[in-house]
Amino acid sequence: MSPSDGWRAEAVGRLEADFNRSADTHLFRLELPGIPDISLYFKDESTHPTRSLKHRLARSLFLYAICNGWVVEGTTVVEASSGSTAVSEAYFARLLGLPFIAVMPKGTSPEKIAAIEFYGGRCHLVDNAAEIYGASQRVAQETGGHYMDQFSYAERATDWRGNNNIAQSIFQQMASEPHPVPQWIVVSAGTGGTAATIGRYLRYQRHPTRLCVADPENSVFYDSYVAGRSDITIETSSNVEGIGRPRLEPSFIPGVVDHMIKVPDAASFAAMRVLAQRVDHLPGGSTGTNLYAALQAIRDMREEGSAGSVVTLLCDPGERYRKTYYNDDWLTANGFDIAPYTSQIDRFFDTGEWLAIS
Ligand SMILES: *Cc1c(COP(=O)(O)O)cnc(C)c1O
Repeated sequence: MSPSDGWRAEAVGRLEADFNRSADTHLFRLELPGIPDISLYFKDESTHPTRSLKHRLARSLFLYAICNGWVVEGTTVVEASSGSTAVSEAYFARLLGLPFIAVMPKGTSPEKIAAIEFYGGRCHLVDNAAEIYGASQRVAQETGGHYMDQFSYAERATDWRGNNNIAQSIFQQMASEPHPVPQWIVVSAGTGGTAATIGRYLRYQRHPTRLCVADPENSVFYDSYVAGRSDITIETSSNVEGIGRPRLEPSFIPGVVDHMIKVPDAASFAAMRVLAQRVDHLPGGSTGTNLYAALQAIRDMREEGSAGSVVTLLCDPGERYRKTYYNDDWLTANGFDIAPYTSQIDRFFDTGEWLAIS
C-alpha cells in the first residue's frame, strides 16, 4: 500500500457517507388546467445540499478525479464555472479538506460567489465566459493544482447506466403515474452532462422517450446541432446562468439528443416567473428555459392528439436571482420584455391555446 492509498480510501469513504446521508430529490407535478390529457413533471434539483443539479456532477467529478489519481491529499482543485458547479465543488472540497479555486466570468451572481466563499473556496474572476478555460489552466499550473474541467469530463464522470443517476431516479419516481414513460424529457445544457446521462440511459433502457435540449440566446449548442458542426464559437456570454456556452463543449453529445429548441431569453424569464406564481417554488432562469421548451413539446403533442407525460428539471432556486431575473428594473435595463411571453404562457396553461408572439 502506497502512502496515498490511505487518503484515497478515506476520501472515497467520506463521499459515500455524504451520499448516504443525502435524500433523493422530489419529482412534482404541475397542473395544466387547460390541458387535462398531458401531465408535466419537474425533477426538483434545488433540494440538494448545495441547491442545484451540479451537486450530482461535483460528486461524480471528485470521485472520478480521486479514483484516477488526479486528486490526492493536499491537491488544490481548480474549476472553470459559471457558478453553480463551483458552489457544489467548494462543498465537496471542504468535505475532503482540499483547497478550491473557482474561475468564473465577472457577471456571476454575488449570491453564488458568497456560497463558494462560505464553503471556503476562493474566486478568480475573468472578463467573459470564453476566458475561463485558459485562466483555469494557468491557475492550476501556478498552484500545482488540478483543473477539474467539468466541460470535458461531465459526460464521462457520471454513470449513465444507472447507479442512482438522475435518469434512473426519474423513471423510478414516475412508476405509479398515469403515463409512467414520458414522451419527452426536456433539459437545457451547460456542460451537456445531464443531457448525455439522460439520453444514454433512455437508449440503454430502450425507452421510447425522446430527449429535447433547450438552448438560450448567446450559445452555440443549437446552431452546432442543426448544422452538424463542432467549430462554431461566439464572443458573448449567455444571460441565463448555468446554460448556454460560447463553444461546443466536449461533454455535449449531439448523438443522444432527439430535438433542440432555441428559447429567447425573455421567454425563459417569463416562464420562470409564471412557474413561480403557480407552484410553491422559486425557480432559477434555466428552469424557465426548460419550461418554455417543455410547453412547446406539449403543444405539439396536443396538436397530434396524443395524451401522455413530459418531464423537465427545476435546476436551481430563484433566490440566487432576486436582483436580476426577478427584478423588473434589471429586466428593463437589459432590454428584456417578458410581457408578451407571460400572456402566451398563462393563456396556454389555462386554455391549451398557444398564441403566436407578434
Ligand atoms: C449546469 C446547469 C444546467 C445544465 O446542466 P448540464 O448538465 O451542465 O448541461 C442547467 N441549469 C443550471 C442552473 C446549471 O447550473
